[in-house]
Amino acid sequence: MARDLSPKCKKCRREGKKLFLKGDRCFSIKCAMIKRPYAPGQHGQARRMGLSEYGIQLREKQKVKRTYGILEKQFRKYYEMASRMKGNTGVLLSTLLERRLDNVVYRLGLASSRGHARQLVNHGHFLLNGKKVDIASCLVKEGDVVSLKEVQGNYFEELKKVIKNHQAPSWMSLDVQKIQGKIISVPVLSEIDTNVDIHLIIEYYSKS
Ligand code: SF4
Repeated sequence: MARDLSPKCKKCRREGKKLFLKGDRCFSIKCAMIKRPYAPGQHGQARRMGLSEYGIQLREKQKVKRTYGILEKQFRKYYEMASRMKGNTGVLLSTLLERRLDNVVYRLGLASSRGHARQLVNHGHFLLNGKKVDIASCLVKEGDVVSLKEVQGNYFEELKKVIKNHQAPSWMSLDVQKIQGKIISVPVLSEIDTNVDIHLIIEYYSKS
């Protein structure tokens, strides 16, 4: 699977917004958005021209893609999948992205970032309904249980301490002792915390 390996902090600086791609560092003073809160490159500090309607839609799409760590080809597939489904395409697209296994692991607090979650899933550390799954893009559904393959040793005791105070989204439940999460329901738009206008993305694709 192709991956975007370009520097993470530059992505935030390009979008002018924290995308939380680096775990704990994002909450520290080392965050590049604190030290260099302007676009990367030679002209990054120059005053930005106002964006066209197309530019606004494009930036919104890039923001979401970068937040979830998805490349264009796959992101377009999600859009096409959502547009074939019955209902509001924007809401369905958001829901599909949230249902990715790497996102679920991150939302459960079992990884420090979506990138970290993807790595853990790819390395086979997680079970979905008791079976090993190493595909980060796998979509969870209502009733699914996500758990760790191994739950013994110091690392797991430390993880329990970390997730003890973690607030999982309302559409999933977290059992700290078992280090496992259950999907209570498919998320609705108000339960998805990405702070983007998904409808701008739908407008972008519907024109292209
Ligand atoms: Fe973005 Fe995190 Fe880097 Fe800050 S530390 S710029 S939030 S990836």
